[in-house]
Amino acid sequence: MAKFEDVTWFCDKCGACLNAQSEFADERGIWYCEQCGYLNELKESEIYDSEEAWRRSETYRRLYDR
Ligand SMILES: [Zn+2]
Repeated sequence: MAKFEDVTWFCDKCGACLNAQSEFADERGIWYCEQCGYLNELKESEIYDSEEAWRRSETYRRLYDR
């Protein structure tokens, strides 16, 4: 069961769609990306309305240093 309905999660590091990965479950609050092994946090503050909002986020800046 999904904790966050209608939320599509993407890996913060490589951009892979996490929802499509095997046995994905967002209620755990964290998810290791199958593609790159990055630990993604699945929480309310990591949900962005748009690509633009994501690019303005703290996490994005921390990862991509902008
Ligand atoms: Zn990844």
